[in-house]
Amino acid sequence: MLGLMQDWPLLCHRVIDHAATYHGKREVISRSVEGPIHRTNYAEVRARSLKVAQRLDMMGMKLGDRIATLAWNTWRHLEAWYGILGIGAIYHTINPRLFPEQIAYIVNHAEDRMIFVDLTFLPLIEKMAAHFPTLEHVIVLTDAAHMPATTLKNAVPYEEWLAEADGDFAWKSFDENTAAGMCYTSGTTGNPKGVVYSHRSNVIHSLVANQPGMVGLSPSDVIMPVVPLFHANGWSLAFSAPMAGATLMMPGAKMDGASIYELLDTEKVTVTAAVPTVWLMLLQYLEQSGKTLPKLERVIIGGAACPRAMIKVFEEVYGVDVLHAWGMTEMSPLGTVCSLKPEYSGLKGDAKLDVLSKQGHPPFSVEMKITDDLGTELPWDGKTFGRLKVRGPAIAKAYFKGEGGEILDEDGFFDTGDVAHIDEFGYMQITDRAKDVIKSGGEWISTIDLENLAVGHPDVAEAAVIGVAHPKWDERPLLVIVAKEGRAPTKEEILGFMEGKVAKWWMPDEVVFVPEIPHTATGKIQKMTLRERFADFRFPE
Ligand code: AMP
Repeated sequence: MLGLMQDWPLLCHRVIDHAATYHGKREVISRSVEGPIHRTNYAEVRARSLKVAQRLDMMGMKLGDRIATLAWNTWRHLEAWYGILGIGAIYHTINPRLFPEQIAYIVNHAEDRMIFVDLTFLPLIEKMAAHFPTLEHVIVLTDAAHMPATTLKNAVPYEEWLAEADGDFAWKSFDENTAAGMCYTSGTTGNPKGVVYSHRSNVIHSLVANQPGMVGLSPSDVIMPVVPLFHANGWSLAFSAPMAGATLMMPGAKMDGASIYELLDTEKVTVTAAVPTVWLMLLQYLEQSGKTLPKLERVIIGGAACPRAMIKVFEEVYGVDVLHAWGMTEMSPLGTVCSLKPEYSGLKGDAKLDVLSKQGHPPFSVEMKITDDLGTELPWDGKTFGRLKVRGPAIAKAYFKGEGGEILDEDGFFDTGDVAHIDEFGYMQITDRAKDVIKSGGEWISTIDLENLAVGHPDVAEAAVIGVAHPKWDERPLLVIVAKEGRAPTKEEILGFMEGKVAKWWMPDEVVFVPEIPHTATGKIQKMTLRERFADFRFPE
């Protein structure tokens, strides 16, 4: 017997309908690419998204077409997303920090028919136009007054393009499993692979992300996603914020400490989200300027391991709760959030920081397991680490066009490529990427643990640990340090600080100081590049 509930497909544009109907006056504030702060609200965003949908329909865009965006977080980018979704086309966010060859590869692989592009990236598109044979139209996210002269014959300013629609249009209706969005993973080896979200997976994911104990947005929140919409489905904040009716603060192109602080302060942001490198810049700015964060309640930190020292400063110096989160493009992206369950809520000081440094526990709809290399499940004792595998309705089952072949195990779990342990209360902690872990004398050393420890030293801005070949132990850890501005710590000081805090045989064999550590397009330490750079490194005898 089937249930007798209504068939109400979980379609993404229903989210903006909900926001416009019940939270219509709630603001969507943006730092525009042109400069000034722009203010609109959910009712207006919905009305203009509907015009985007109508305009796309007038141009012959249809169900299943891929439409790219190369843009910062602004209201126009948001309108483009919902407009694309509303006709059953697929938003394809492109990360502008990728190499031009990678951008050309993914635009062609996705067969994008159109692109919405910010002024910032117009020169890039002009330069690469010959490499984009499938691209029929370029919509520049600005108005005629700010539209620069361009060599592109098929480029028009967004506002004038939009003005040709009267808004007398209805969203298209289709199956909830229809593809909604696409985001390519920037794997370190091989070509990027396309992850394809569905309307259903996006809606389920946002419902789940909005639970208390997860991101948990409410109409009283002012959320600023510093994480760009082009990183891992924008951490789904383009859906979870309007779903909750939260005020949305879109920070545009400027991510330096001073610019981010200005918006946090003037717009009274209560929740914000980004990768650790962004928070590094903000914390340095706060330290130098002596400013504080009285209005900010919680900061979501993910995309790379959040150093314990960073959590400590946010919590203890600025009184801001840190929600350490882990996820992947393939997971829409949320996998876990570290909020304190009753089992841990009484902890104080170092014991509390130990827990907050973990990546946390999953929401309903994410199943996890850890296994050894043969696929045998490992115990949840908070120590034994193995390959982390996941299953759920917002987790990829294949890549676009079948790239990479079969990606699930026989039980339908996806191997994340991360190595982790899980404790008795279901808290997961990443110890490494499988390909970064150091194998020393047959045992594994966690590079993340060592990095977290090293950045706890007051003179260290950033740290990376890589395995370097060793004649006796196969590999040994090399610690690469970027010192804070104006500081010059020594190797002995750093190692002395770390001693006694990790097993003796985990201690780095050598410390090197560099002006900068390379990062990937999504803010992760580029370990492969570091390994190449230190390929000829030899430990002192
Ligand atoms: P992406 O698809 O670009 O978001 O990258 C996903 C990968 O980033 C994961 O598989 C992890 O290796 C890493 N990652 C994301 N969040 C965290 C975190 N909180 N701690 C450690 N690694 C993380």
